[in-house]
Amino acid sequence: MIKFRSRAFVALISLIVVVLIGLGILLGQFFKYNFLDALNNKIKVEIWWVLSAGFGTAVIVTLLLVFKITTRYTKPIKAATEVAIELAHGNYRARTKVSRLDDTGILGSSINMLAENLQELTKVRDIQQDRLSALIENMGAGLILIDSRGYINLVNKGFIDIFHINPSEYLNKQYYEVVDYEEICQLIAEVFRTEQKVSKQLHLPLQIERKYFIVYGVPIIGANNVWKGVLLVFHDISEIKKLEQMRKDFVANVSHELKTPVTSIKGFTETLLDGAMNNKETLQSFLSIILKESDRLQTLIQDLLDLSKIEQQGFQLNIQMINLYSILQDVLKLLDGKADTKNIQLEFQSKQNHAYIKGDFDRLKQVFINLINNAITYTPVNGKVSIYLLDSDEMVRISIKDTGVGISKEDIPRIFERFYRVDRARSRNSGGTGLGLAIVKHLIEAHQGSISVKSKLGEGSEFIIELPKEMNLKDGER
Ligand code: ADP
Repeated sequence: MIKFRSRAFVALISLIVVVLIGLGILLGQFFKYNFLDALNNKIKVEIWWVLSAGFGTAVIVTLLLVFKITTRYTKPIKAATEVAIELAHGNYRARTKVSRLDDTGILGSSINMLAENLQELTKVRDIQQDRLSALIENMGAGLILIDSRGYINLVNKGFIDIFHINPSEYLNKQYYEVVDYEEICQLIAEVFRTEQKVSKQLHLPLQIERKYFIVYGVPIIGANNVWKGVLLVFHDISEIKKLEQMRKDFVANVSHELKTPVTSIKGFTETLLDGAMNNKETLQSFLSIILKESDRLQTLIQDLLDLSKIEQQGFQLNIQMINLYSILQDVLKLLDGKADTKNIQLEFQSKQNHAYIKGDFDRLKQVFINLINNAITYTPVNGKVSIYLLDSDEMVRISIKDTGVGISKEDIPRIFERFYRVDRARSRNSGGTGLGLAIVKHLIEAHQGSISVKSKLGEGSEFIIELPKEMNLKDGER
């Protein structure tokens, strides 16, 4: 259409030129035959001048017309064509200038509108692409996409992080050439074979550790049942597995710890009932064992209740202004007798006779009873237990140091675990439940403080607690 119009203009202009030239020739011939021959030379020259001037004017008018038509029609069409070419090359920001509302103006504005729509579409597509990439990269699981021929098309950040791989060694390679894990290759092959979703729990060795994964293999089937490949998603469930194991261990430990005193109580009671109670001495000795075991049972149940209460979400401390100096003095008075029986020297050092913080009186007393009691328990006779209290600007530091059996380097990280004991028999004989330090750690953390241990086997241990004077409470806790 555009071509046809420009051709029509050229034809029109040519026609005007031909008509003007023809008219000039006709006029010339007309003058020549009717007047010129009869006129003298001077007049002839004048007429020639007039004719030449007329012809010249006609040529100029024609050129002006050509120029005007060119600028009016051809230029906008050319500009629109150039923009269309730019659009075809993907430059959607190209625009043409529209100055009139005629046909060429409509063409220009249509092309501009088309460019705007394309630009908008590209923007939307780019946003969607970005969202999709962000989703795939940060979905919190490993993902691998394999095409219908078995070539790996995509691996996300999760997958790279899990398997510590270099993506360039994976992309566009056959999955069975690069995936080192037989179980994963079998799972992919199963999805290819069955064209069904497959999910499996795998325990895979990764560098220095083994991790548990739930792996989902999904066949990707496009429109018209076209087979497009397989998508594999890896969810790391090692943490859940660990918690599950901890729960199982805990239940096993609790059952075991409860079973021991109950079996003992039952055994001694049965023996007494079988006739042993007739002997006063035996009766006395068995009853005191039964009492001791019942005490153990009671302490264990109390510790378990305490721990479950402290570990519960929403556990709240009874926060008030407390003097750690006087709490420590109370605890020392309480445990003085026990230290005396082992001839252990109990020492308390503090520069001032006060150290105020905001905390829970009963819970912190419980912490110090546990730690000082342990220090006495795990220190042989004639030893020494020292308590240091240091009050500084923002926190208070309490250190409980003993000259006891000490704890090995390997055991130190584990002593805060529930039921962990370095020496099971010694702990049990001293009435320990193996839950004391777990409770202590929870309580110190609930006070936003910290607990650390320094120890040397055979030389002694030091438990250091740091408590902030003022806790940062969230709105709900105030
Ligand atoms: P328990 O009731 O057995 O004392 P805890 O949780 O209080 O349980 O302590 C865990 C283990 O840590 C103890 O069994 C003991 O082996 C070790 N332990 C704790 N305190 C000391 C200490 N002061 N010196 C040496 N070992 C300690």
